[in-house]
Amino acid sequence: MTTINVIYGTAILERTYELLQETVTTMKHLRSDMKVVIKPNLVVAKPAREGATTHPEIVEGIIRFLRDFGITKPVIAEGSWLGEQTGRAFSCCGYEVLAKRYGVQIIDTKKDNVLKKNACGLTLGICSVFLEADFLINVPVLKGHCQTVMTCCLKNLKGCIPDSEKRRYHNIGLHKPIAALNTILKPDWHVIDGICGDPVFEEGGNPVTANRILLGTDPVLLDSYGATLLGYSADEIDYIHYAQEYGIGNLFREDTKINEFRTENRPKKITQNQSRLVQKLAPLIEDNNACSACYAALIFALNKLGINNFNKQITETFKIGQGFQGKQSTGIGIGDCTKRCEHYISGCPPSAATIVQTLKNLIKDK
Ligand code: SF4
Repeated sequence: MTTINVIYGTAILERTYELLQETVTTMKHLRSDMKVVIKPNLVVAKPAREGATTHPEIVEGIIRFLRDFGITKPVIAEGSWLGEQTGRAFSCCGYEVLAKRYGVQIIDTKKDNVLKKNACGLTLGICSVFLEADFLINVPVLKGHCQTVMTCCLKNLKGCIPDSEKRRYHNIGLHKPIAALNTILKPDWHVIDGICGDPVFEEGGNPVTANRILLGTDPVLLDSYGATLLGYSADEIDYIHYAQEYGIGNLFREDTKINEFRTENRPKKITQNQSRLVQKLAPLIEDNNACSACYAALIFALNKLGINNFNKQITETFKIGQGFQGKQSTGIGIGDCTKRCEHYISGCPPSAATIVQTLKNLIKDK
């Protein structure tokens, strides 16, 4: 399907169901004997209203729709980011309750078997539940990301790999392995939560209400369109380009067909995004293959403390990332990888609160 389908509204469950009803005739047919796996974004244990995680009402709308096809036991599978327990996220984000209500299984993929697959010159470990799915439904949040600028369909599949692979992706460039992963796992539908994604941080905290849900089958098309909704062009996001190069899909163009439903529900005003905050803070950071959780914690901490404090009192860049493992360096390191820095803040990843407190102490001592 080369079109993008968008519906607006605050009745999230009903609008999701309606969007599926409106568009599903053009999409691959479901059969009741299929093993259907739903992959939301539960990167952290924060409710969806904070702009990081998938609204459970969207997944509920999908579950109800699947029932119309006789599919009563879809599986919800996810592995939160490094340092977060998926079980906590399932509970906090409302998925435990949802699973009980519908009698569906939730799977923490941090505990799943991992199978190796080759793609684009890489060997990638992938959680088996996704490889064994007959029908995969990707339900990402459209939001910003400290390192990759944005995250949506393509990057959400990074939740389909074990923690060891999440670390390794950051070591091998992040963008290429994300695109390569999408040549192996090819979700049948992408149902995008565009209700109130945070345009700055993957882990939320600055939700911006847009009240939209998007649906399509081409993740390159959807992500390149999503980039424009966040104020970027696809040129700024490398993994979208690699994905196009690998033949996963086509870029959004001016003449791409967009079917919009319930446009009367479109919010009158969408707050300007603040994604440039990350760009403002980036010159203070020397990133050498940092994991997302680590990098985001540092950005949050610097933002909380106020950029001006650092301009005056800290003259060196902060060191962060796996590239600093075993390397001596001056200045302040963030995370266990930077143990050999002059000062370092422990944790893998350290929390933003730990970084704030330790930096406060360091500044005081200066
Ligand atoms: S300390 Fe940070 S960068 Fe290093 S492995 Fe842990 S989370 Fe990743």
